[in-house]
Amino acid sequence: MENKPRIIFGKPYLSFEDEYVFLNCDVSINNEIKTFWFKYDKKFEKYLVTESNEAFVLSFLPYCMKKNVDIKCEHPVNEVFKNQIEEYLIPTLARNIKSYNKIEIQSPINNITYAGKGVAVGISCGVDSTYTILKNDKTHSKDSGLNINYVTFFNAGSSGSSEKSYDLYNKRLEEVKKAAEFLGLELIAVDTNINSIYVDFDYESVHSYRTLSIPLTLQKLFSRYYYSSSFVFEDFKFDDKDPTYHDLLTMICVSTPSLTFMVVGGEVTRIEKVKFISQFDFPKHFLNVCVRKETNCSKCFKCIRTMLDLYLIGKLDEFNAVFDVDHFHSHFDEYVVYAIEHRQDIDMPEIYEHLCARKAIKHKHRRAVRVNRLKRMILGTFIGSIYKKLKHQEGKK
Ligand SMILES: [Zn+2]
Repeated sequence: MENKPRIIFGKPYLSFEDEYVFLNCDVSINNEIKTFWFKYDKKFEKYLVTESNEAFVLSFLPYCMKKNVDIKCEHPVNEVFKNQIEEYLIPTLARNIKSYNKIEIQSPINNITYAGKGVAVGISCGVDSTYTILKNDKTHSKDSGLNINYVTFFNAGSSGSSEKSYDLYNKRLEEVKKAAEFLGLELIAVDTNINSIYVDFDYESVHSYRTLSIPLTLQKLFSRYYYSSSFVFEDFKFDDKDPTYHDLLTMICVSTPSLTFMVVGGEVTRIEKVKFISQFDFPKHFLNVCVRKETNCSKCFKCIRTMLDLYLIGKLDEFNAVFDVDHFHSHFDEYVVYAIEHRQDIDMPEIYEHLCARKAIKHKHRRAVRVNRLKRMILGTFIGSIYKKLKHQEGKK
């Protein structure tokens, strides 16, 4: 029988440098041993799990499934977690997503439970994470175990996987520190070098597993971790490009007897989410949705989408500290034209419907859409003819 390749994980161990503690694991890939780590402020040392290895296994899971490599763990993995991953998550993903393969996890098991009582959520200051935080910040009874007491910020790839990504991560971290302080919640920032195995992967296609592996390293501190969903629950599906669509299944499978993952945000549409957060002061100072800059540019698709949401609920002017509201009003027609042109994109159908219902879309906007389409066609034909000419000349040489 053909020997299937496998990745071998050693026992997690701690090391220290300056004011930081590292949770390390030596991993053998193609007979080469490399040390992977998560890095925390030293004060979190006592909460780090070295007794079992759920975190490193989960962080490598999409890599191993896509490369069709089995996992061997020399150290135990929690039995409940292993069962959920092996019996439910892996077979379902392998059956429904072409690029995923069915792989095996060979490891000893344990049934240790930890006594963490903390409740945490990731803080990015976008609409989804702001909604999750405000929905669960001192909104439940004191003994419910549902109120958030930590916010987390992970360098799990969302800022990119290159050297430059550290700059962006550190800049974002500074903003997030101020946001956590405003909320009166403790911030836990975690860096990792696991991003390095994913340099050839599209970040979006593996991001939830990488993010969820980090709370698993802190099971002695957390009993509940809220994961902010970008999609409504009725959009559940298996999608190769974005695992967020099947968050509901993932959260059940990656939870352990000590730590429950919970998806928040799928119960409301984007406009309903924006409406909810607009009642609070926090997003008026810290909402940050931009994909171009560290502060909101007011011109990229995420800024436009959010500004239109706020406009439709009559709250945009209250967000003038985080968006260029004057630009929106003076270029309102362009925002409407954008909404018509992108009405099929994610979250845009809802905005388009609201603009129609409000009769905000006029003849001049539809005319502008037709003119833009014509311009693009002419430009496309022009570029196409130049390309053909160049190809033709190349062929002659
Ligand atoms: Zn922007």
